[in-house]
Amino acid sequence: MTYFRPHNLDDALSWLADNEALIAAGCTDLFAQTRSQYLGGNTGRKLLDITAIDEISGISKSDEYVRIGAATCWSEIIAADLAPSFEGLKAAAREVGSVQIQNTGTIGGNLCNASPAADSVPALITLDAEVELASPAGRRVLKLQDFLTGAGHTALQKDEILCAVLVPQKSTGGVSNFIKLGARKYLVISIAMVAVRLEVAENKIAQIAISVGSCSAVARRLGNIEQLLKGAPCDINLPKAVGAKDIAASLSPIDDIRADADYRIKAARELVIRAVSQLLDGEKSA
Ligand SMILES: Cc1cc2nc3c(=O)[nH]c(=O)nc-3n(C[C@H](O)[C@H](O)[C@H](O)COP(=O)(O)OP(=O)(O)OC[C@H]3O[C@@H](n4cnc5c(N)ncnc54)[C@H](O)[C@@H]3O)c2cc1C
Repeated sequence: MTYFRPHNLDDALSWLADNEALIAAGCTDLFAQTRSQYLGGNTGRKLLDITAIDEISGISKSDEYVRIGAATCWSEIIAADLAPSFEGLKAAAREVGSVQIQNTGTIGGNLCNASPAADSVPALITLDAEVELASPAGRRVLKLQDFLTGAGHTALQKDEILCAVLVPQKSTGGVSNFIKLGARKYLVISIAMVAVRLEVAENKIAQIAISVGSCSAVARRLGNIEQLLKGAPCDINLPKAVGAKDIAASLSPIDDIRADADYRIKAARELVIRAVSQLLDGEKSA
């Protein structure tokens, strides 16, 4: 096997351009796929290990963005000093496998693997996250929703590396929450998950972003529910306001071994109500 572990991004990009290689970060997804014919069988492929490239790791802040390097692992994100609007992302990070998985699995790997059940995606969508991609031709920035093109599919080109997740500072207001439903408490692939970011002003919901994962090929924002709740008083009766039909209108859940589509819609509705209620309760007592 040919294995290359460069220390800077330019070396990584030029090697990738000359070698049809598989990019390896924490390998928590890749390892599981290595022997499986069904998942593509990676045995024998050239490997580009990106974990020694400092410039794509760690978290930094500028006036414009909070920048999370693609090779940043979940434990670093959980421990980072970030605004309350990142609590949803941190809660999602705590749900990724076990502590051992969080110590090695990266945010970039989670996005590039593009599972419909990737825990980071709903929270990142509520933060209007973008991704920065680099190739020998230069860099480009895409909205996360445009990067994730389907289950297991992204807009990443063969000669590109995902460098960072960019969260616009203008989308970091308020507080956030994340709730995941699985068949058990730990080490579980979600049946449905919900992320919410909320801003309250004068006892009303001033801004709200809601997204649901595991109920469509790519996690989706619930624009119709956001419109419904924007401007509503903080004591709104959520079970009355949020109907299953409103939830179903934005999603396309599948029937699978974990749950059928109807159950997923009901679960997503309940999670939306709980996630928003918890944030509103927190704001009342603040
Ligand atoms: C036991 C177990 C439990 C898990 N539980 C969960 C869970 O609860 N929730 C969840 O969301 N995930 C879970 N996962 C999946 C996995 O841990 C996460 O998706 C993790 O974030 C993947 O990161 P990684 O660095 O290990 O990716 P890798 O396995 O190294 O890579 C994954 C994919 O992304 C590509 N890639 C990685 N980084 C880049 C980059 N910077 N640029 C371009 N391509 C790149 C790789 O080529 C590969 O295709 C679990 C995995 C295991 C083994």
